[in-house]
Amino acid sequence: MTTTTKPRIHYDCTKCPAFCCSIYERVVVNQRDINRLARHFELTIEEAERRFTKRNGDERILRRQKDTLLGQTCKFLNLETRGCSIYHARPQICREYPGRSRCGYYDILQFERETQEDDTVLPLIQLRFLKPKREA
Ligand code: SF4
Ligand code: SF4
Repeated sequence: MTTTTKPRIHYDCTKCPAFCCSIYERVVVNQRDINRLARHFELTIEEAERRFTKRNGDERILRRQKDTLLGQTCKFLNLETRGCSIYHARPQICREYPGRSRCGYYDILQFERETQEDDTVLPLIQLRFLKPKREA
């Protein structure tokens, strides 16, 4: 008999303000993601695509909203709980993130909270590509 052990996870999304939903301006969605959103909201595929996504070059990305905490974030982030409001219908890319046992943003958060001895400190992190990969 074989046993499968899940890799240990060293981050806790419930204790994070959702950096990943905010820092990345492009949450890319594919057709399956849009179909799932349409089913979740009981909309046509065209309507779901129009309401929740926008074109960015040759890709489609989720729309965003203003966020007093981190500047901007995904349209689907619940700004009060800092959790995903469409958790079971979220895109594949969100399901796969961060794709390893550690999350760098969570590590920075913990590092700074320990360093400052203050559980309320919030590092403001931005990604800046010196050589832009895509139009924003
Ligand atoms: S940044 Fe990391 S710890 Fe925070 S919500 Fe995203 S995956 Fe979870
Ligand atoms: S769909 Fe949910 S998990 Fe994905 S970026 Fe938006 S709020 Fe975050």
